[in-house]
Amino acid sequence: MSGLRDILIARIRADGPMTLAEYMADCLMHPEHGYYATRDPLGAAGDFTTAPEISQMFGELLGLSLAQAWMDQGSPEGITLAECGPGRGTLMADVLRATRAVPGFHAAMRVHLVETSATLRAVQGATLGKSLGKSLGKSLGRDDITWHDHVDALPDAPLFLLANEFFDALPIRQLQREGGMWRERCVGLSGDALALGVSAPKPVAALAHRMEDTRDGDIVEICAGAQAMAGAIGARIGARGGAALIVDYGDWRSLGDTFQAVAGHEAADPLADPGGADLTAHVDFEALAQAAAPAKHSRLTPQGVFLERLGITARAQALAQGLEGAALDAHVAAHRRLTHPAEMGTVFKVLGLFPETAPPPPGLET
Ligand code: SAH
Repeated sequence: MSGLRDILIARIRADGPMTLAEYMADCLMHPEHGYYATRDPLGAAGDFTTAPEISQMFGELLGLSLAQAWMDQGSPEGITLAECGPGRGTLMADVLRATRAVPGFHAAMRVHLVETSATLRAVQGATLGKSLGKSLGKSLGRDDITWHDHVDALPDAPLFLLANEFFDALPIRQLQREGGMWRERCVGLSGDALALGVSAPKPVAALAHRMEDTRDGDIVEICAGAQAMAGAIGARIGARGGAALIVDYGDWRSLGDTFQAVAGHEAADPLADPGGADLTAHVDFEALAQAAAPAKHSRLTPQGVFLERLGITARAQALAQGLEGAALDAHVAAHRRLTHPAEMGTVFKVLGLFPETAPPPPGLET
């Protein structure tokens, strides 16, 4: 019995079934029992591996794309370099190392991280303390990095932002169409066990536009948290300039049940072990792009295409020069894993946000 399961069962007995969003929020971020709140889930020994943990090339190329976007906008001073959900801090460390050679970029920036997990904030501080210290040629104090719980708290300044596998972790609701109304999928009880059920049908104004492209029984997912975050990011980029690179699995428009759990690198039942498995859903990039107005958005681009356009093959060949044996094999496999359509190259997609007055970040097009 997990501690969180007992808490959730007691709450459902008292208040009735909870939405998937409420369930997901507690499972991921409950301060005592939440999945992210209690552990570092990344890497071979954890539950899943992400692109920056696979190869340094991912962060290097994203960093250079952002730095070029900064130059395209006239190299403004006083910018925010931000990341949402930085995990172990690996992506930001690679970004900082790769952009060291860009004149004026480090002097113009302040690093801001959006992270709610105290455990992962500590890991990020340790990673970046080492690498940012090296890259800036000085030792790094806590003053050089500012952490926030939400993008709302980011400074009112030009914003250059990265988010890799962040939006998939934000809690979603699922609604199942029935005529002109929707039943909400909820977590309730079957005896003493958590079980999925549906609410009575109700109208959902936010889904009026989905009457055209859905049929009875179809499931649509909505993520209020993602829309709020994208709105705050887009407002800053639209008003002050900047760029965002949002990388995740998902599609232009959500359709169908994508709520999933992963534990020990395997798919799991999302209700089996509350707080013990990573819970995610596919990202609805259309909803993000719309919420980000007045910022403009790029075409949704497969990760493999994006990285190839940015020159990952040349970078991989340069890095391969210094490698042999097992290290070389691992490096070749990492390049393939990031870009090949049968691996992460097509499932993962990139959405760029940028101001009306600037071109999209390199690697993306309108
Ligand atoms: N970007 C990293 C980690 C992805 S895991 C990588 O690619 O390796 C998701 C990250 O988002 C974790 O750092 C998690 O703690 C953070 N996170 C999840 N939900 C969040 C929320 N609502 N607000 C802020 N951070 C969140």
